[in-house]
Amino acid sequence: MSVDELSAWLAGRLPPEWIAAVERDDVAAIRRARADVDTRSLLHDLGIAGWATPDWPVEYGGRGLDRGAARLVAAELARFGVPRQYNVIGLAMAAPTLLAFGTETQKRHFLPAIATYDHSWCQLFSEPGAGSDLAGLATRAVPVEGGWLVNGQKVWSSMAHEADFGLLLARTDPSLPKHDGLSYFVLDMHAPGVDVRPLRQLNGDAEFNEVFLTNVFVPAEHLLGRVGDGWRVALTTLQNERSALSGAGSVSGSNIGGLKAGQLLSLARERGRDHDPRTRDQIAARLIDAYLLRAGNARAALIRSLGHSAGAEGAVTKLMSAEHNKRVQALVMDLLGADGIAWLSDATPPPVNGFLRAQANTIEGGTSEIMRNVIGERVLGLPREPDASRGVPWTDIPRAAK
Ligand SMILES: Cc1cc2nc3c(=O)[nH]c(=O)nc-3n(C[C@H](O)[C@H](O)[C@H](O)COP(=O)(O)OP(=O)(O)OC[C@H]3O[C@@H](n4cnc5c(N)ncnc54)[C@H](O)[C@@H]3O)c2cc1C
Repeated sequence: MSVDELSAWLAGRLPPEWIAAVERDDVAAIRRARADVDTRSLLHDLGIAGWATPDWPVEYGGRGLDRGAARLVAAELARFGVPRQYNVIGLAMAAPTLLAFGTETQKRHFLPAIATYDHSWCQLFSEPGAGSDLAGLATRAVPVEGGWLVNGQKVWSSMAHEADFGLLLARTDPSLPKHDGLSYFVLDMHAPGVDVRPLRQLNGDAEFNEVFLTNVFVPAEHLLGRVGDGWRVALTTLQNERSALSGAGSVSGSNIGGLKAGQLLSLARERGRDHDPRTRDQIAARLIDAYLLRAGNARAALIRSLGHSAGAEGAVTKLMSAEHNKRVQALVMDLLGADGIAWLSDATPPPVNGFLRAQANTIEGGTSEIMRNVIGERVLGLPREPDASRGVPWTDIPRAAK
């Protein structure tokens, strides 16, 4: 394959003013041209042509390219300014998990509709009593004729209100230690008994939800991996989530929300702060962090292109990107001064929104404290954190009464 093939496809699919803006390298004009295009329909066509997931096998909706060629495709899509930030959970978390653990039937059934953006996905892991200690979760799946009956509550389920399917981790054997009694299912979000209730966030958006599961029937063919092997399957999802959140994933690129470190200098100039030595110091530190993060992500991408899994090293870039983004957005607020806390428009200005949203970066996908634990134990090989519940049957682990 040559990238020219993709460029020709885009030239045939995108409006002439968009193509002309790309040829002039005019980012603002690309953005204007993009506003008139139906993004969903564009992404659907991109998926049908196999360009959304170029490294997937052809039979699952890809083009069967190797990782190196797929990176060239991603770079070309970025050059054309094709928006990709939809169904990140489906593309970056569900798909690698299905590819690793799905049966042939499951892969052929679920993957093509992810590639074409026709089905969106959410992650049903966290619960009110299980976040960092995810393996302690209490949602139960009980075997019944033809499948499983699920009861429990999930929380912080991003995009569950729009999702067609959920990645569900549930307890199938409470008599076993907490990591051993879990199984992993694909949940139809439109099934009877699934109740999704949005949660309002600090910035006013409602992108995540509570999900109540009451006697939800999950067919036997929606079990992913073996019964009792849910923790191992979930680790694959979590590793890919960290890569996606750190910008090392194939979907989210280097975009981690809010203003980028590279924009700090022009903002400082606008605000007359570019000669202030303390500000210059802070900007330099953030630019160095951004450089290190890019290098870390490039290394992770290289490791993946050699066919290795995301691995525990993903915790390093996840930790770095979360902490870095919070520092960048805090500096933006500092540079904005009073304009960062008072404005005249109805909508929250984008830089303020970026600051508010960044607060979640050190929590979502595993907190920074947990990333440090993962790095200590699995990257540096330090002694494991003591866990009194390890090896104890889940039913015997003390937990708060409901
Ligand atoms: C924006 C956003 C989106 C999210 N989307 C999803 C989603 O789609 N699906 C999903 O399943 N979940 C989602 N989550 C949930 C997220 O994974 C959890 O919030 C996270 O794992 C932390 O769990 P918790 O909130 O229960 O906090 P806790 O686990 O209760 O932690 C509280 C504090 O204690 C610290 N702590 C806990 N244990 C340790 C330890 N062993 N060592 C050191 N410190 C510790 C934590 O770092 C934290 O500071 C999302 C969260 C956010 C903020």
